[in-house]
Amino acid sequence: MSAVDTAPGLTARESELLARVPDGLYIAGRWEAGTQDPIQVQDPATGRVIKRIANARPEDGIRALDAAAEAADAWAATPPRTRAEILRRAFDLLQERRDDFALLMTLEMGKPLAEANGEVTYGGEFLRWFSEEAVRISGRYGSNPEGTGTMVVSQRPVGPSFFITPWNFPLAMATRKIAPALAAGCTVVVKPAELTPLTTLFFAQLLEDAGLPAGVVNVITTSTSGAVSAPIIADPRLRKLSFTGSTPVGRALLAQAGQNVLRTSMELGGNAPFVVFEDADLDAAVNGAMLAKFRNMGQACTAANRFIVHESIAEEFAARVTERVSALRVGRGTDEGVTLGPLIDDRAVASMAALVEDAVSRGARVLTGGAAPEGDGFFFEPTVLVDVQPGSEILREEIFGPILAITTFSTEEEAVARANETEYGLVGYVFTQDLARGQRLIDGVDTGMMGLNTGLVSNAAAPFGGVKQSGLGREGGLEGIHEYLSTKYTLIPA
Ligand code: NAD
Repeated sequence: MSAVDTAPGLTARESELLARVPDGLYIAGRWEAGTQDPIQVQDPATGRVIKRIANARPEDGIRALDAAAEAADAWAATPPRTRAEILRRAFDLLQERRDDFALLMTLEMGKPLAEANGEVTYGGEFLRWFSEEAVRISGRYGSNPEGTGTMVVSQRPVGPSFFITPWNFPLAMATRKIAPALAAGCTVVVKPAELTPLTTLFFAQLLEDAGLPAGVVNVITTSTSGAVSAPIIADPRLRKLSFTGSTPVGRALLAQAGQNVLRTSMELGGNAPFVVFEDADLDAAVNGAMLAKFRNMGQACTAANRFIVHESIAEEFAARVTERVSALRVGRGTDEGVTLGPLIDDRAVASMAALVEDAVSRGARVLTGGAAPEGDGFFFEPTVLVDVQPGSEILREEIFGPILAITTFSTEEEAVARANETEYGLVGYVFTQDLARGQRLIDGVDTGMMGLNTGLVSNAAAPFGGVKQSGLGREGGLEGIHEYLSTKYTLIPA
């Protein structure tokens, strides 16, 4: 660890915390300095560099896999109760270090401190949930139908696993993979996003403090993700690839994983429909919209992307959300009262401006926001668009920012058809007080998850994941641990 390069504008508390975050690669239980130009981590609220950390080369990635492969047999043979207790200690330590983790996420990623605290809770729940699941891995035992033998079905750890995580939820996207893998008895190499690597490094230190043996979790940070990841994925010792990120990168990784027929979990992009019927409780719909759209500054795979609102209430819905959106306070996430932080980088800001311009050129109207404010940091005004026309980019692309785009519909059939008009299928939101209609939408909308009269569905005890081009596999819930187990069947003749 080295002293932080105290950037102007950091408080003493922020500098002290950043100085405690490791800046090396974590391989086989040791922190190693990088051997090439460091990664410069920025605060997106100011654009300033807040820390420099090691930048792995491809050979560092292979050494991390060496460590995971070496530790694999001993970890698989570690009693489930011991694995569970380490996860539980990690959960407890995370609660003790809650304020540090929340502040660190706000500093490197930008989300308001209250939301960062919410992520500590959510991310921590995967540790607690899978500490409970570790001791409940079971199989089956019974006669075969012919009566000539006994069939034994057991579950084994898949083996060394490689995780690639995104920048938008720096803690939860890591714990959602690491916790079930450790519970199942797998060792791992984690590559966090280069934009927000600090939380994963800080978390690796927490795992060590919780008693995790060397080599079970290894962390490599790099600015050359493709070059470092490809040799790991091509190595025959690797047995599993789990990726959370954009659909184009997911497709490329699936192709690479095909070479060695790896088990894969893919949590990819979303384009969530948010359907509001004329019989909806409008207060609930407006609250749900604020949560589903503006949490994490709209940078969530579960963010509502297309608001599909019944024509008879569209004007009132738009007026009410506009009032709420105009009251959002934009600023650095550490500042008192801020409810909307910056976007992750300048490319994201440029992409918001382009989406608004395209929608407006096709006939949309801006009710509030619509531009990047003057000044430092990667901010974009929270925006409401109405009269968004079919064919607009904003309906097709994952927005990943604070723009609420409203279109209207007249019949239920039209609402379902429009909700499904996308290659994605992660989550859908429906607001109606008619339960039968709600059930028809749950059945008719082609997604892995649905929220009925709510704008937030994520829970460590629930299976999170998508269909279509939103991905493969589930994280969390009873299902989550099975991503890291393979089924073995044995026949014992009678
Ligand atoms: P991204 O695909 O650009 O990057 C994700 C990760 O992949 C990062 O660690 C990045 O360094 C790495 N990466 C990029 N190119 C790579 C390559 N060629 N080989 C290996 N690794 C590579 O995505 P992002 O911008 O970090 O995250 C936003 C995306 O993630 C959005 O599309 C969002 O919907 C998605 N996401 C999905 C979920 C989910 O659970 N479905 C959750 C969060 C985010």
